[in-house]
Amino acid sequence: MTDDDQPASDLPGILSSVESTHSGLNEAGKPAGETPNQSTSEDAFALVGNEIRAEIIRTLGAHDADATGESTLGFADLRAAAETDVVSSQFNYHLQKLVGHYVEKTDEGYRLRPEGKMLYRTIRAGTFTERESLSPVAIDQDCYYCDDQLKLAYDDGMFTVQCHGCETLYDLILAPPSAVRTDENLQSRVEGYNYHLRQAFAQGVCPTCLNPLETELLDPSETGFTDVVERDLYVYQSCGYCGNHSYLSLGSLFLHHPAVIGFCYEQGLDVTTTPRWEIPFAATDRYLTVRSTDPWEIVLEVPVDGVTLELVVDEELSILDHSVSASPADDDI
Ligand SMILES: [Zn+2]
Ligand SMILES: [Zn+2]
Repeated sequence: MTDDDQPASDLPGILSSVESTHSGLNEAGKPAGETPNQSTSEDAFALVGNEIRAEIIRTLGAHDADATGESTLGFADLRAAAETDVVSSQFNYHLQKLVGHYVEKTDEGYRLRPEGKMLYRTIRAGTFTERESLSPVAIDQDCYYCDDQLKLAYDDGMFTVQCHGCETLYDLILAPPSAVRTDENLQSRVEGYNYHLRQAFAQGVCPTCLNPLETELLDPSETGFTDVVERDLYVYQSCGYCGNHSYLSLGSLFLHHPAVIGFCYEQGLDVTTTPRWEIPFAATDRYLTVRSTDPWEIVLEVPVDGVTLELVVDEELSILDHSVSASPADDDI
């Protein structure tokens, strides 16, 4: 595939919400299910493999999402709000199966536990159950390799930013179908979400399961991408726990480095909100100079508004040296 940035994730990022600190790890840091008092994942799925239990979770989740700030429902109210037609004893039987797992019983009634909220939000996002698509829409950026305009599209659970002229793929972002329910501020929402996911990668943390990532620099010939356009290297990061992985350009990764964020901001460019396909030193490798591959040593130029920040980076992605100088006129962003 022609490629610029590769998926930030092989799993939907919906699980990377704030409450995903409840990540299924027990206190010893082992996956849930490895100790007798933890449910196996099969048990957890089986618990909601029933339409009445799923409706109870949906009802409690919708109540929690309500603006009232009240997340608890008494039994009678819960049963009345749930769209089921079973008798009280049968409803209670299924409710009690959820208590201690996805649902918590309190003196006031029933509410979702954190795991239940995560499940509800994942279902709402349509990650596992829905298909949506968005026909390619032109975005305000020309391709760096031909004169065509880039297009944003959504299909098969992922956004693509691609040139349909030369087919260069600039970005690929896995996201739940709920993302395209409205087209309001779509581009900025996509990049906001993208930045959030890649920020975790840049910090060496898996955004899905919170485990540490392995990071290495790869020559494009080592990636298996056979038709890579003008690419000098990839930053490859992988999670040995859940299989999540990411291929990024060095410039794209450094959009998350405080030295680059601060320099660009001083020069009038906010890299935390500007789509990365609009930033030449992130979208292409034209501002990279590979000094050495064994060990890796790379120079990354960040030219903004007449001034260039030059970073010398090693294979640990540490900055060995940096300098600031006037930019050549044609380098300006
Ligand atoms: Zn093109
Ligand atoms: Zn992971």
